[in-house]
Amino acid sequence: MHRVYNFGAGPSTIALEVLEQVQEELIDFRGSGMSIMEASHRSKLYDDVHNEAISLIRELYKVPQDYSILFLQGGASMQFAMVPMNLSNGGVAEYADTGSWSTKAIKEAKIQGIEHRIVASSKDSSYDHIPEVLFSDEADFCHITSNNTIYGTQYKEYPETAAPLVVDASSDIFSYQVDWNRVDLLYAGAQKNAGPSGVTIVIINNALLERAKKNTPSMLKYKTHADANSLYNTPPTFGIYILNLILHWIKSKGGIEEIDKLNQIKAKLLYDAIDNSEGFYVAHAKEGSRSLMNVSFNIKDKDEMLEAKLIDEATKSGMIGLKGHRSIGGLRASIYNAMPIEGVEALVELMKKFQMENS
Ligand SMILES: *Cc1c(COP(=O)(O)O)cnc(C)c1O
Repeated sequence: MHRVYNFGAGPSTIALEVLEQVQEELIDFRGSGMSIMEASHRSKLYDDVHNEAISLIRELYKVPQDYSILFLQGGASMQFAMVPMNLSNGGVAEYADTGSWSTKAIKEAKIQGIEHRIVASSKDSSYDHIPEVLFSDEADFCHITSNNTIYGTQYKEYPETAAPLVVDASSDIFSYQVDWNRVDLLYAGAQKNAGPSGVTIVIINNALLERAKKNTPSMLKYKTHADANSLYNTPPTFGIYILNLILHWIKSKGGIEEIDKLNQIKAKLLYDAIDNSEGFYVAHAKEGSRSLMNVSFNIKDKDEMLEAKLIDEATKSGMIGLKGHRSIGGLRASIYNAMPIEGVEALVELMKKFQMENS
């Protein structure tokens, strides 16, 4: 069997055990004589999978009982629009600007003509750190991007505010425990850390469900989906099925706490290789803001020739998806939950060898 180490930012690597289980039950799911893809979303066969996924999220992510767990479509990008549509209350919305995804979220508030403030930004230093974020307590809602997939920065602690805090956790959902006392809405497109593209996970404090304006279309209202247990219309059943397998996989690894420990070890391996390279490799993110999920780095003097050469050598050694985002160039190693430590070790070894041969 041929498998690469896929360091791509998303869609991204999925644990082999999960893929093998999909393969095994693809044609005959749980003795039904059909694929889960072919099952009615109103059938017991599918309903069990759907509810299993919801209850596993509640269990593993310790989601409080008065929060709803929703499976929507449209990606995190749809949430950029749904959040202001559902949560704005005639007052001001506050945003922290920590990268391109924050900027896109802010744009959707602008389009809806909602009064909004950017309370902090690290744009002037090409988003190389998480700035100090001070939200007011009176805002309709406050929005952060917990992990900045492109720049490789991540909040180590969420800001505290009495206003509802909304978190775009698309690239670090299920990678550490969340303090739900601070968070009222968390959303994520599944395709980075939680499954294939097509499912969007929304976890929302029920107290916020009644806020949407009267003229909000049904499909764009959280309450519609909360009232129908995310079965108002046909949900992305196959994606939710794989999400459920991934949740079982997380549980089999000892839960989110154990995954978190492993993520810290994996990230340390890579950052140590960068920090001990005597300046040959340079991390984009400042210390204190470094992401455990996406490690963005350059080669000394942003040497594009050498960067391309390293990416090429990695590809030949079965490590793919390392090209950095066009906005900052260089390389980016996405080391989500499903990236095995062996993949990170192989990359670190290659980086050391490459440095010796090219400096
Ligand atoms: C990938 C990503 C998005 C966009 O997700 P889509 O599902 O493609 O809309 C938004 N925010 C963050 C932090 C991301 O990493």
